Amino acid sequence: MGIATDHEVRRNAIITTSIHLFKQDGECPCNPLSRLYASARNKSVCLIAFVLACLVTRNDVAQQPPPVKPERTPITVDQPEWGEGIGAENAQAVCVSVAKTFLLHGGVASAGSILVRQNKDPWPIALTDPAPGGERVILLATSGTYWSQLAYQFAHEYCHVLTTHWTVPVKHKNMWFAESLCELASIWCLDRMGADWLDGGAPYGNWKSYGQALKDYVAEHTKDTPTFKTPEAFAAWLNSNLDDFYADATNRERNKVVAVRLLPLFRNDPALWQVVLYLNDGLRRDDDFPAHLRQWHASTPPVLRPAVVKIAAEMGFAVNTNEDNKP
Ligand SMILES: [Zn+2]
Repeated sequence: MGIATDHEVRRNAIITTSIHLFKQDGECPCNPLSRLYASARNKSVCLIAFVLACLVTRNDVAQQPPPVKPERTPITVDQPEWGEGIGAENAQAVCVSVAKTFLLHGGVASAGSILVRQNKDPWPIALTDPAPGGERVILLATSGTYWSQLAYQFAHEYCHVLTTHWTVPVKHKNMWFAESLCELASIWCLDRMGADWLDGGAPYGNWKSYGQALKDYVAEHTKDTPTFKTPEAFAAWLNSNLDDFYADATNRERNKVVAVRLLPLFRNDPALWQVVLYLNDGLRRDDDFPAHLRQWHASTPPVLRPAVVKIAAEMGFAVNTNEDNKP
């Protein structure tokens, strides 16, 4: 599959819309991207009233965008029921809650509508081709009331849609990194969404207690995943595995190691999801990983580039120079 002609698709890059008021002494917990815009701040009260979302394309990243409100992604489960007699509206509510989690905490939403169906094959996938109406199509491999499994699969595929996966070759050298970020999307989202449900944000009131099941699902899923004390230690592991990553993008255990490495960063600063929108812009099929990181950095709007630097640094790589950036 070659580079699609709609590479210039417009996406909402949502720069935080937030007003934080903190009345405790100590370090302001606002995320670093928001800090870029802080107009007032002191130890006891932090007021960030930079509000805006901007439309950004590869060609106008440096221009001042018109203020727009991010739209919630329309998501439709495109079949009458979800197996085992379960109504499609329940599956749809889970998918909508996933997208809502990315919007509320990360400030990101996919640009177009999404149709969700069950896959005939036993794996989930985000299709390259849109539906006749232009909707992105996500096929899931679950049925019945396995909501954690459904949410996990949908969050992963939704992340692929956020990266406009259809604009790049299906097979490229750094597909493993996109796969790892999409695993991170699942792990981060279920944990965050579970907390939201427990806090009263469930689609239905009687689903509130299921929030703990969402959190437990990812805790169990990641409990045996190796962790590293320092970025340098992780970089050493990554470098020793890069050839295997290049050869097999979807080794889920390896993808999960990368995801778990980045999870604390995204937990502390969910606005980092905003730079994932630019991961595939300008992607070159045969770049090695350091070059891929540099390209991602260069393709990201300047105001958001510190987030790419931060993510790379967590993996032991530097990207904000023109020099070879091997750790
Ligand atoms: Zn994937």
